[in-house]
Amino acid sequence: MYGDHLETVCGCVVGGAGPAGMGLLFNALKSGAMPELAKEGLIIVDASPNPGTGRLGDYRITANSVGDVFLDCLRDPALRDVFEPLEHSPAYWRIRRQAQSAPQLSDVAELLAEASTLVLNFIVEHYGVKLWTSTTITEVVHEDDEYQVWVESEGRSRRIRCRAVVLNLGGRQDPRHLLNSLADQGLAVPPAAKVQSADELLRMNGVQLRNFFAPTLARQGRVSVVGGSHSAFSVLENLADALEFAGLSEVTLVHRSPIRLFYETAEAAIEAGYSFDPLKDVCPVSGRVNRSGGLRYRALDVGREALARGHIGKTGVRVQLLQTQNGPEGQFERARQALAESEVVVQCTGYQPLLPTLTYAGGAAVSLMEVKGGLDSDPSGCPLDSNGQRLYGLHLFGLGAGLGVDPRLGSEASFDGRIYGVWQFHNDASGAVIDAVLARLQQPVIQPVSLSRRLIVNREEQRQPFLWPALANAQS
Ligand SMILES: Cc1cc2nc3c(=O)[nH]c(=O)nc-3n(C[C@H](O)[C@H](O)[C@H](O)COP(=O)(O)OP(=O)(O)OC[C@H]3O[C@@H](n4cnc5c(N)ncnc54)[C@H](O)[C@@H]3O)c2cc1C
Repeated sequence: MYGDHLETVCGCVVGGAGPAGMGLLFNALKSGAMPELAKEGLIIVDASPNPGTGRLGDYRITANSVGDVFLDCLRDPALRDVFEPLEHSPAYWRIRRQAQSAPQLSDVAELLAEASTLVLNFIVEHYGVKLWTSTTITEVVHEDDEYQVWVESEGRSRRIRCRAVVLNLGGRQDPRHLLNSLADQGLAVPPAAKVQSADELLRMNGVQLRNFFAPTLARQGRVSVVGGSHSAFSVLENLADALEFAGLSEVTLVHRSPIRLFYETAEAAIEAGYSFDPLKDVCPVSGRVNRSGGLRYRALDVGREALARGHIGKTGVRVQLLQTQNGPEGQFERARQALAESEVVVQCTGYQPLLPTLTYAGGAAVSLMEVKGGLDSDPSGCPLDSNGQRLYGLHLFGLGAGLGVDPRLGSEASFDGRIYGVWQFHNDASGAVIDAVLARLQQPVIQPVSLSRRLIVNREEQRQPFLWPALANAQS
């Protein structure tokens, strides 16, 4: 009915409309950038039938910020009319009632889902934005001054040609990443042990966790968690809650550097008896201690309890904390032994970006340069390839990619990871991306389109199965 081959040309593709992609769209709308962003055509592509919240609501944990931080993402005079229907939303009122405490992520996701639907409907109606749901990005081809985004929907393949791609498809935890980082420290996991992604465990309910760990508990097998961040302490709590009465008595937490706790002020940290480095651990802009890397809210409580008493929360499950780098004497050796004896090793050492196949026009694979905690990108999330070439027009800042610390906004000197979170997606992170995308859309095209077209045709000849001829903007 539609013909077979599908090609669409537009200015910008937003690939992935989870919290990161949606953050950019909210920000473009409230900052007044949406008309410009959509002028040459804006297509939003997401694999989900109901985009807006990505994985966030699947995690069975509390948020690492208070409810007001999420409400702040919706609080803007420019969005007032769009969000008016939220006044009748139970999710909105639930978060408002917890404005000063950390809500469940499932509640946050419910609110973000409703707000996202309102924003998506609004921009489709008012700015001619195209929304392609249930559509998977399979490949992004970088060629001269443009990108070709290959997508699949209902078994059909089609291509979008565009100048800018904002690509936030979420994160993944590659077990090789964990094994390599342990190997760098002279540590290893036995071949028979299962390396288990924290991401999957945090999405399991109590019954699922009990089923998963039943064989290990029956053999009194050892469980180790590797990492020292929020995820690690959330995993400890979920395991202890679900498995205490199924026989779990102890978990080992192997972490490279000291466990860092967040405090609003240096005075509060001193009062709590927390020792920190006043130069390296305090943010010069806000005065907060471990502002970027410290445990907060529920993870902070679990972390404090673990450090002080060696127990997980209020349960009777014990936790051994073993620091592998510059830790107290004997801890490295005990960590080595714990890992060697473990049946299950839970990976809580961050994320890598989930990417489609990335290639240059000739077919060679593009591999993106990584740094600790994410991708080596500029402040607008524009990454470097492994040859050190910047991929202008491509922007990533969500889970697994992140952005470097912005010195104007501050952080602690001891933090060397990447920054990401819903508030950042809606504000500073996406603001820099919007500016970069708009600047690019205003630049003249470097490569004559006719030559690009010829190269695309060559490439198409190799592609199977292949479908012709074109239909622009079939799905909106
Ligand atoms: C355990 C955990 C807890 C967190 N807690 C908080 C918190 O409390 N507060 C906070 O601010 N941040 C938190 N974060 C960080 C961050 O906000 C979330 O990870 C957030 O879900 C990241 O959003 P994202 O859009 O980058 O990825 P995702 O949420 O994974 O969304 C990715 C989107 O891309 C789509 N997609 C995937 N593949 C394709 C494809 N091939 N083609 C098209 N579409 C595709 C998906 O359908 C989805 O909509 C947490 C992260 C983790 C891991």
